[in-house]
Amino acid sequence: MRIDVISIFPEMFKALTCCGMALRAIERGALDLRLWDPRDTTKDKHRRIDDRPYGGGPGMVMLAQPLMDTLSRLRQDDGASKVIYLTPQGTRLKQDKIRDLAGQSRLILLSGRYEGIDERVIDREVDEEISIGDYILTGGELPAMVLIEGLIRYLPGVLGNEESVFADSFTEGLLDWPHYTRPVDFAGHEVPNVLLGGNHEEIRRWRLKQALGRTWERRPDLIEQLVLTDEQKELLLVYQKEHTSEEVLR
Ligand code: SAM
Repeated sequence: MRIDVISIFPEMFKALTCCGMALRAIERGALDLRLWDPRDTTKDKHRRIDDRPYGGGPGMVMLAQPLMDTLSRLRQDDGASKVIYLTPQGTRLKQDKIRDLAGQSRLILLSGRYEGIDERVIDREVDEEISIGDYILTGGELPAMVLIEGLIRYLPGVLGNEESVFADSFTEGLLDWPHYTRPVDFAGHEVPNVLLGGNHEEIRRWRLKQALGRTWERRPDLIEQLVLTDEQKELLLVYQKEHTSEEVLR
């Protein structure tokens, strides 16, 4: 997958590409990440990429010209790329969206700064606006990195165990189950017995029950969106009984 990122702070992306899965994805040729600084296309002799907002008010706005010129340079390579602007005004990013975008062969991500970018760039060039949550950051670089981190996990050959993508939280509409590793007894806290027995069916049911129970406790909104199977209903009921005091049940 090729991802072109437009940002006035391309060096920030070293935090992503230095290590971990992103580095692995690049080394394996699964991710081709290219960074573009709009300052390189500015026509201003001081290399300015921002100016004061029309109508007055605080802050600066990113100029249309350097962004448009960067985009048209990128479009010369391939006119069909989807352009995504990271903005708190966009659709909130969810796992489904990441999975859908992972099917694209190329994306262009636009990171804003200051009060944002000139609206005409959005009107003319942006296909989709994505927010990483209901809070304001100073720039779109971290949101772009969040999206890229999410995408990398779907690229073939990047994760050691491809199955883990499907077990992670949100993928099946549920939160993940709890995980344990050695030792069996850590400071008097023991790993649940069922995980030590080697009975795959029991382990599967225990994990499913934990995933259902955790989601019910922590994210009831997710449970409400699901149509549970008979087995899921049964396991959730068992979990609820185990975790609700006798008094409440009576
Ligand atoms: N004035 C803008 C508003 O209220 O919608 C906020 C601008 S913000 C200070 C500067 C840039 O950071 C934005 O252009 C955007 O690229 C990025 N940004 C900030 N918060 C974000 C979020 N929650 N999701 C995605 N991008 C965000």
